[in-house]
Amino acid sequence: MRILVTGGAGFIGSHLCRRLLQQGHEVICLDNLASGSRSNIEPLFEDPNFSFLEQDVQAPVDLTVDRIYNLACPASPVHYQEDPVQTFKTSVLGALNMLELATRNSARILQTSTSEVYGDPLVHPQRESYWGNVNPIGIRSCYDEGKRGAETLFFDYHRQYGTDIRVVRIFNTYGPLMANDDGRVVSNFIVEALKGEDITIYGDGSQTRSFCYVDDTVRALMLMMETEGITGPVNVGNPNEIPVKVLADHIIRLTGSSSNIVYQDLPQDDPVRRKPDISSAKELLGWTPEVPLEEGLQKTIESFSKQ
Ligand code: UDP
Repeated sequence: MRILVTGGAGFIGSHLCRRLLQQGHEVICLDNLASGSRSNIEPLFEDPNFSFLEQDVQAPVDLTVDRIYNLACPASPVHYQEDPVQTFKTSVLGALNMLELATRNSARILQTSTSEVYGDPLVHPQRESYWGNVNPIGIRSCYDEGKRGAETLFFDYHRQYGTDIRVVRIFNTYGPLMANDDGRVVSNFIVEALKGEDITIYGDGSQTRSFCYVDDTVRALMLMMETEGITGPVNVGNPNEIPVKVLADHIIRLTGSSSNIVYQDLPQDDPVRRKPDISSAKELLGWTPEVPLEEGLQKTIESFSKQ
Protein backbone atom coordinates (compact mmCIF):
# COMPACT_ATOMS: atom_id res chain seq x y z
CA MET A 1 0.00 0.00 0.00
CA ARG A 2 0.92 3.67 -0.36
CA ILE A 3 0.97 5.08 3.14
CA LEU A 4 1.31 8.67 4.30
CA VAL A 5 2.74 9.22 7.78
CA THR A 6 2.42 12.81 9.00
CA GLY A 7 4.91 13.53 11.74
CA GLY A 8 6.95 10.67 10.32
CA ALA A 9 10.26 12.23 11.39
CA GLY A 10 9.17 12.39 15.00
CA PHE A 11 9.84 9.90 17.75
CA ILE A 12 6.91 7.49 17.23
CA GLY A 13 6.51 8.43 13.56
CA SER A 14 10.01 7.37 12.56
CA HIS A 15 9.61 3.97 14.25
CA LEU A 16 6.29 3.57 12.44
CA CYS A 17 7.80 4.48 9.02
CA ARG A 18 10.55 1.89 9.55
CA ARG A 19 8.08 -0.88 10.46
CA LEU A 20 5.82 -0.09 7.48
CA LEU A 21 8.81 -0.19 5.11
CA GLN A 22 9.83 -3.55 6.60
CA GLN A 23 6.38 -4.82 5.65
CA GLY A 24 7.03 -3.78 2.04
CA HIS A 25 4.78 -0.71 1.88
CA GLU A 26 5.54 2.53 0.10
CA VAL A 27 5.89 5.21 2.77
CA ILE A 28 5.63 8.96 2.35
CA CYS A 29 6.80 10.82 5.44
CA LEU A 30 5.43 14.36 5.80
CA ASP A 31 7.06 16.48 8.49
CA ASN A 32 8.00 20.14 8.93
CA LEU A 33 10.82 19.11 11.31
CA ALA A 34 9.49 21.45 14.01
CA SER A 35 9.94 18.78 16.67
CA GLY A 36 10.93 15.81 14.50
CA SER A 37 14.41 15.50 13.04
CA ARG A 38 16.07 14.43 9.84
CA SER A 39 18.45 12.15 11.75
CA ASN A 40 15.49 9.97 12.81
CA ILE A 41 14.69 9.15 9.17
CA GLU A 42 18.22 9.30 7.69
CA PRO A 43 18.61 5.47 7.54
CA LEU A 44 15.23 5.13 5.78
CA PHE A 45 16.38 7.03 2.67
CA GLU A 46 18.25 3.89 1.59
CA ASP A 47 14.89 2.24 0.93
CA PRO A 48 13.50 3.17 -2.54
CA ASN A 49 9.99 2.84 -1.09
CA PHE A 50 10.63 5.79 1.24
CA SER A 51 10.11 9.45 0.38
CA PHE A 52 10.10 12.60 2.46
CA LEU A 53 8.03 15.76 2.09
CA GLU A 54 9.30 18.58 4.27
CA GLN A 55 6.13 20.53 4.86
CA ASP A 56 3.52 21.51 7.41
CA VAL A 57 0.52 19.21 7.87
CA GLN A 58 -1.71 22.27 7.53
CA ALA A 59 -0.51 23.02 3.97
CA PRO A 60 -2.55 21.66 1.08
CA VAL A 61 -1.20 18.42 -0.33
CA ASP A 62 -2.42 16.39 -3.27
CA LEU A 63 -1.33 12.77 -3.05
CA THR A 64 -2.75 9.39 -3.97
CA VAL A 65 -2.66 7.23 -0.86
CA ASP A 66 -4.37 4.18 0.64
CA ARG A 67 -3.66 4.92 4.29
CA ILE A 68 -2.89 8.00 6.38
CA TYR A 69 -1.39 7.87 9.86
CA ASN A 70 -1.82 11.37 11.31
CA LEU A 71 0.85 11.91 13.97
CA ALA A 72 1.98 15.45 13.20
CA CYS A 73 1.90 17.60 16.35
CA PRO A 74 4.45 18.49 19.02
CA ALA A 75 3.63 16.17 21.94
CA SER A 76 5.99 17.10 24.75
CA PRO A 77 4.48 19.67 27.15
CA VAL A 78 7.65 21.83 26.93
CA HIS A 79 7.45 21.98 23.14
CA TYR A 80 3.71 22.24 22.64
CA GLN A 81 3.57 25.15 25.10
CA GLU A 82 6.31 27.09 23.25
CA ASP A 83 3.90 28.17 20.50
CA PRO A 84 0.43 27.20 21.74
CA VAL A 85 -1.45 28.81 18.85
CA GLN A 86 0.62 26.83 16.36
CA THR A 87 0.06 23.64 18.41
CA PHE A 88 -3.70 24.10 18.32
CA LYS A 89 -3.66 24.86 14.59
CA THR A 90 -1.43 21.86 13.85
CA SER A 91 -3.78 19.57 15.67
CA VAL A 92 -7.10 20.89 14.38
CA LEU A 93 -6.23 22.25 10.92
CA GLY A 94 -3.82 19.37 10.32
CA ALA A 95 -6.58 16.88 11.11
CA LEU A 96 -9.00 18.76 8.86
CA ASN A 97 -6.52 18.82 5.99
CA MET A 98 -5.73 15.11 6.31
CA LEU A 99 -9.40 14.16 6.64
CA GLU A 100 -10.09 16.02 3.38
CA LEU A 101 -7.25 14.11 1.71
CA ALA A 102 -8.46 10.77 3.08
CA THR A 103 -12.04 11.44 2.02
CA ARG A 104 -10.97 12.47 -1.54
CA ASN A 105 -8.86 9.29 -1.80
CA SER A 106 -11.36 7.00 -0.05
CA ALA A 107 -8.35 6.19 2.11
CA ARG A 108 -8.39 4.96 5.68
CA ILE A 109 -7.07 7.47 8.20
CA LEU A 110 -5.81 6.92 11.74
CA GLN A 111 -5.60 9.73 14.25
CA THR A 112 -3.08 9.53 17.06
CA SER A 113 -5.00 11.14 19.87
CA THR A 114 -3.74 11.20 23.42
CA SER A 115 -4.40 10.40 27.05
CA GLU A 116 -4.41 14.20 27.47
CA VAL A 117 -8.03 14.18 26.27
CA TYR A 118 -8.79 12.90 29.81
CA GLY A 119 -7.06 15.97 31.33
CA ASP A 120 -6.44 15.57 35.07
CA PRO A 121 -8.72 12.54 35.32
CA LEU A 122 -11.28 12.04 38.07
CA VAL A 123 -11.85 8.44 36.99
CA HIS A 124 -9.11 5.86 37.40
CA PRO A 125 -7.95 3.97 35.38
CA GLN A 126 -9.14 5.84 32.30
CA ARG A 127 -11.56 4.07 29.97
CA GLU A 128 -12.52 5.34 26.55
CA SER A 129 -16.06 6.07 27.77
CA TYR A 130 -14.73 8.68 30.24
CA TRP A 131 -15.18 12.23 28.89
CA GLY A 132 -12.32 13.70 30.85
CA ASN A 133 -11.54 16.63 33.11
CA VAL A 134 -9.80 19.18 30.93
CA ASN A 135 -9.13 22.83 31.79
CA PRO A 136 -10.16 24.61 28.57
CA ILE A 137 -8.16 27.78 29.31
CA GLY A 138 -4.96 26.48 30.91
CA ILE A 139 -1.44 26.13 29.58
CA ARG A 140 -2.03 22.51 28.46
CA SER A 141 -5.30 23.34 26.66
CA CYS A 142 -3.69 24.08 23.30
CA TYR A 143 -2.73 20.41 23.13
CA ASP A 144 -5.61 18.83 25.07
CA GLU A 145 -8.38 20.78 23.38
CA GLY A 146 -6.58 20.65 20.03
CA LYS A 147 -6.54 16.86 20.23
CA ARG A 148 -10.15 16.76 21.43
CA GLY A 149 -11.14 19.02 18.52
CA ALA A 150 -9.33 16.67 16.14
CA GLU A 151 -11.27 13.69 17.55
CA THR A 152 -14.49 15.64 16.99
CA LEU A 153 -13.55 16.25 13.36
CA PHE A 154 -12.71 12.58 12.84
CA PHE A 155 -16.07 11.40 14.10
CA ASP A 156 -17.98 14.11 12.22
CA TYR A 157 -16.24 13.21 8.95
CA HIS A 158 -17.10 9.59 9.64
CA ARG A 159 -20.78 10.34 10.31
CA GLN A 160 -21.19 13.02 7.65
CA TYR A 161 -19.05 11.69 4.77
CA GLY A 162 -18.52 8.05 5.68
CA THR A 163 -14.74 8.56 6.04
CA ASP A 164 -13.02 5.37 7.19
CA ILE A 165 -11.47 6.47 10.50
CA ARG A 166 -9.47 4.99 13.35
CA VAL A 167 -8.75 6.91 16.58
CA VAL A 168 -6.22 5.78 19.16
CA ARG A 169 -5.43 7.54 22.43
CA ILE A 170 -1.73 7.12 23.11
CA PHE A 171 -0.52 7.18 26.72
CA ASN A 172 3.08 8.00 27.71
CA THR A 173 5.47 6.29 25.31
CA TYR A 174 9.26 6.11 25.52
CA GLY A 175 12.16 4.53 23.67
CA PRO A 176 15.13 5.17 21.38
CA LEU A 177 14.91 8.19 19.02
CA MET A 178 13.31 10.46 21.61
CA ALA A 179 15.17 13.76 21.21
CA ASN A 180 17.75 14.63 23.89
CA ASP A 181 15.92 17.91 24.41
CA ASP A 182 12.46 16.37 24.12
CA GLY A 183 11.61 17.62 27.61
CA ARG A 184 9.56 14.59 28.64
CA VAL A 185 10.29 12.78 31.82
CA VAL A 186 11.98 9.59 30.57
CA SER A 187 14.41 11.34 28.22
CA ASN A 188 15.11 14.15 30.71
CA PHE A 189 15.93 11.70 33.50
CA ILE A 190 18.12 9.51 31.27
CA VAL A 191 20.08 12.46 29.87
CA GLU A 192 20.55 13.93 33.36
CA ALA A 193 21.58 10.56 34.81
CA LEU A 194 24.09 9.84 32.03
CA LYS A 195 25.64 13.29 32.41
CA GLY A 196 25.72 12.94 36.21
CA GLU A 197 23.60 16.09 36.51
CA ASP A 198 20.82 16.61 39.07
CA ILE A 199 17.60 14.78 38.21
CA THR A 200 14.76 17.27 38.38
CA ILE A 201 11.43 16.05 39.68
CA TYR A 202 8.50 18.43 39.34
CA GLY A 203 6.31 18.37 42.44
CA ASP A 204 7.02 15.69 45.06
CA GLY A 205 7.24 12.87 42.50
CA SER A 206 4.11 11.11 43.74
CA GLN A 207 2.22 11.86 40.50
CA THR A 208 1.90 8.71 38.42
CA ARG A 209 2.29 7.79 34.76
CA SER A 210 2.20 4.47 32.89
CA PHE A 211 5.02 4.07 30.39
CA CYS A 212 4.76 2.04 27.18
CA TYR A 213 7.77 1.03 25.09
CA VAL A 214 7.61 2.46 21.56
CA ASP A 215 7.65 -0.94 19.76
CA ASP A 216 4.49 -1.93 21.62
CA THR A 217 2.81 1.38 20.77
CA VAL A 218 3.69 1.11 17.06
CA ARG A 219 2.42 -2.47 16.90
CA ALA A 220 -0.91 -1.28 18.33
CA LEU A 221 -1.18 1.55 15.79
CA MET A 222 -0.66 -0.87 12.90
CA LEU A 223 -3.14 -3.39 14.30
CA MET A 224 -5.68 -0.63 14.77
CA MET A 225 -5.24 0.56 11.21
CA GLU A 226 -5.71 -2.90 9.70
CA THR A 227 -8.56 -4.13 11.90
CA GLU A 228 -11.84 -4.03 10.00
CA GLY A 229 -15.10 -2.59 11.27
CA ILE A 230 -13.88 -0.42 14.16
CA THR A 231 -13.39 3.30 14.67
CA GLY A 232 -12.18 3.57 18.27
CA PRO A 233 -11.31 5.51 20.26
CA VAL A 234 -9.03 2.86 21.69
CA ASN A 235 -6.51 3.48 24.49
CA VAL A 236 -2.95 2.41 23.71
CA GLY A 237 -0.60 2.32 26.67
CA ASN A 238 0.99 0.18 29.32
CA PRO A 239 -1.15 -0.14 32.46
CA ASN A 240 1.94 -0.51 34.65
CA GLU A 241 1.46 2.69 36.71
CA ILE A 242 4.37 4.14 38.70
CA PRO A 243 5.12 7.37 40.56
CA VAL A 244 7.60 9.69 38.84
CA LYS A 245 9.95 9.36 41.85
CA VAL A 246 10.09 5.57 41.33
CA LEU A 247 10.93 6.13 37.66
CA ALA A 248 13.84 8.37 38.73
CA ASP A 249 15.10 5.66 41.13
CA HIS A 250 14.93 3.01 38.35
CA ILE A 251 16.88 5.21 35.94
CA ILE A 252 19.56 6.08 38.53
CA ARG A 253 19.99 2.36 39.28
CA LEU A 254 20.03 1.23 35.64
CA THR A 255 22.54 3.89 34.57
CA GLY A 256 24.68 3.44 37.70
CA SER A 257 24.54 7.23 37.97
CA SER A 258 25.69 9.33 40.90
CA SER A 259 23.07 12.01 40.13
CA ASN A 260 21.13 13.58 42.97
CA ILE A 261 17.40 14.16 42.86
CA VAL A 262 16.24 17.78 43.17
CA TYR A 263 12.67 19.05 43.31
CA GLN A 264 10.97 21.92 41.45
CA ASP A 265 7.39 23.25 41.46
CA LEU A 266 4.80 21.11 39.72
CA PRO A 267 3.65 22.84 36.49
CA GLN A 268 0.03 24.03 36.24
CA ASP A 269 -2.58 21.34 35.42
CA ASP A 270 -0.04 18.51 35.59
CA PRO A 271 -2.22 15.37 35.89
CA VAL A 272 -1.96 13.65 39.29
CA ARG A 273 -2.63 10.09 38.11
CA ARG A 274 -2.70 8.41 34.73
CA LYS A 275 -3.23 4.79 33.79
CA PRO A 276 -4.99 3.36 30.76
CA ASP A 277 -7.73 0.77 30.90
CA ILE A 278 -6.72 -1.31 27.88
CA SER A 279 -9.62 -3.79 27.81
CA SER A 280 -10.76 -2.41 24.41
CA ALA A 281 -7.32 -2.87 22.84
CA LYS A 282 -7.15 -6.41 24.23
CA GLU A 283 -10.60 -7.29 22.98
CA LEU A 284 -10.62 -5.53 19.59
CA LEU A 285 -6.96 -5.84 18.58
CA GLY A 286 -5.76 -8.79 20.65
CA TRP A 287 -3.02 -6.37 21.84
CA THR A 288 -1.23 -6.09 25.14
CA PRO A 289 2.16 -4.49 25.71
CA GLU A 290 5.02 -7.00 25.84
CA VAL A 291 8.11 -5.04 26.83
CA PRO A 292 8.55 -4.67 30.61
CA LEU A 293 9.64 -1.24 31.89
CA GLU A 294 13.09 -2.39 33.01
CA GLU A 295 13.90 -3.93 29.59
CA GLY A 296 12.54 -0.93 27.69
CA LEU A 297 14.48 1.50 29.87
CA GLN A 298 17.68 -0.49 29.33
CA LYS A 299 17.26 -0.30 25.54
CA THR A 300 16.50 3.41 25.75
CA ILE A 301 19.48 4.11 28.01
CA GLU A 302 21.73 2.17 25.61
CA SER A 303 20.61 4.26 22.66
CA PHE A 304 21.06 7.54 24.57
CA SER A 305 24.55 6.46 25.74
CA LYS A 306 25.60 5.99 22.11
CA GLN A 307 24.55 9.56 21.36
N1 UDP B 1 8.46 15.55 34.96
C1 UDP B 1 9.46 15.66 35.92
N2 UDP B 1 10.70 16.02 35.51
C2 UDP B 1 11.00 16.24 34.19
C3 UDP B 1 9.97 16.13 33.23
C4 UDP B 1 8.71 15.78 33.65
O1 UDP B 1 9.23 15.43 37.11
O2 UDP B 1 12.17 16.56 33.90
C5 UDP B 1 7.11 15.11 35.40
C6 UDP B 1 5.97 15.96 34.90
O3 UDP B 1 5.72 17.05 35.77
C7 UDP B 1 4.83 14.96 34.85
C8 UDP B 1 5.50 13.65 34.51
O4 UDP B 1 6.88 13.82 34.86
O5 UDP B 1 4.22 14.85 36.12
C9 UDP B 1 5.40 13.28 33.05
O6 UDP B 1 5.76 14.40 32.29
P1 UDP B 1 5.97 14.39 30.73
O7 UDP B 1 6.40 15.76 30.33
O8 UDP B 1 6.86 13.26 30.34
O9 UDP B 1 4.56 14.05 30.08
P2 UDP B 1 3.04 14.22 30.49
O10 UDP B 1 2.62 12.88 30.92
O11 UDP B 1 2.90 15.22 31.62
O12 UDP B 1 2.38 14.71 29.26
